[in-house]
Amino acid sequence: MNKSIHGEGTASELQDRVTELIEQQKAISEVLRAIASSPHDLQPIFDAILDSSTRLCRADVVTLRLSEESGLRLVAMRGDPLLVSHLWLVFPALAEKGSLQSRVAISRLPAHIPDLAALGGDRDDSWIAAVNAGYRATLIVPLLKDNDIVGTISLGRTQVQPFSDKQISLFRDFAAQATIALESTRLERQYREAQMALAHANRVATMGQLTASITHEVNQPITAAVTYALAARRFLSADPPNFREVDDALSLIVKEGNRAGEVVERIRALIKKVPARKDAVAIDDAILEVIALTRTEAANNSVSVRTQFVEGLPRVQGDRVQLQQVMLNLIVNAFQAMSGVGKGARELQISIDAVPSEGSMRVGVRDTGPGLSPESLSRLFEPFYTTKPEGMGMGLSICRSIIEAHGGRLWATRCEPHGALFQFTIPAD
Ligand code: ADP
Repeated sequence: MNKSIHGEGTASELQDRVTELIEQQKAISEVLRAIASSPHDLQPIFDAILDSSTRLCRADVVTLRLSEESGLRLVAMRGDPLLVSHLWLVFPALAEKGSLQSRVAISRLPAHIPDLAALGGDRDDSWIAAVNAGYRATLIVPLLKDNDIVGTISLGRTQVQPFSDKQISLFRDFAAQATIALESTRLERQYREAQMALAHANRVATMGQLTASITHEVNQPITAAVTYALAARRFLSADPPNFREVDDALSLIVKEGNRAGEVVERIRALIKKVPARKDAVAIDDAILEVIALTRTEAANNSVSVRTQFVEGLPRVQGDRVQLQQVMLNLIVNAFQAMSGVGKGARELQISIDAVPSEGSMRVGVRDTGPGLSPESLSRLFEPFYTTKPEGMGMGLSICRSIIEAHGGRLWATRCEPHGALFQFTIPAD
């Protein structure tokens, strides 16, 4: 009715439209900001979506449910604090199949109920809870991704004050954008979790290949402690007893006991499933521990291990256990490569130096195995690429993703006359 002769809106209509669009833009940018500042935790993102929804549609309460196997799980609720705390107690945590929420979700269309109390038909638990809590005008919007139901957002007012068509369409657009933002965050999180689980499985599997070495590492201090204890007994039963020697032997027993404890603690740290950390890591110590753990394996394979670490290395920023996992993989791969070599010395050389131009440390693992064929060289880091009968082909691809997540690079080169050299860089602290 307020159209000009050209069919365009009046200035005030246009002004309203611009205001709405700005509000919508603001709402979505708040969601994106929440994602940027909290990429790993979904709750602040849920809250930002709901806070924006409340403002956009002048609702008193907004709830977010996400799809799972058995229904729609209530994951967040915002709005009037009193109503919110009451509804958390009375709303079913899961809207099962057949519930109002679930039926709206399946229809894939928003449902606007001007007065929930006047709604006919089946009345489920969440309906009863909502009406008893004073929830009247309701708008339920399914969240869809490629036509799959991701969840629902429900807006409620405590008065019979229906949502306008404009509010509904504004909200549909916002919900569509919020769903994309939410889903990409969820997917990224799932991917990261899967990667962590895979890295953990690979670490445990690699440790499994080192049982002989690990047993030896633990046994050594225990055997030494027993020897000192036997000696102490002899000193005690001497005539006269030599208490000084007994005291020395006891000190040595304590030292060996602590050593055994430390070895077990290191192994436990490598096997335990813990979230990634960012610490200042002394890369040389971390690598020496891995070398110690693989010492018997080296001896069993007649491999001599040499280290070449430059003095005064700075620390690197990262996750100690993950960096040790990379070393473990590279060292075990080198042993396995050399185990097939008939003649010639089997040597493993581990080096650390600085790359000042990059502000990083470079670690090298060089073996005297058969080296890398052109095919191997181009496919080494692909998941599932393996030339070993029992191999999984995941080790190097996991190593590369660990190093890249640390801001470094991992690559391989052939050595003359034979052998392979794996190198990685890692930014210095
Ligand atoms: P897996 O050890 O289970 O095969 P990896 O991803 O660790 O998986 O290694 C992939 C492949 O890369 C190996 O099967 C092998 O062919 C090759 N490779 C890895 N390290 C070496 C090495 N030091 N020398 C020669 N080939 C290697």
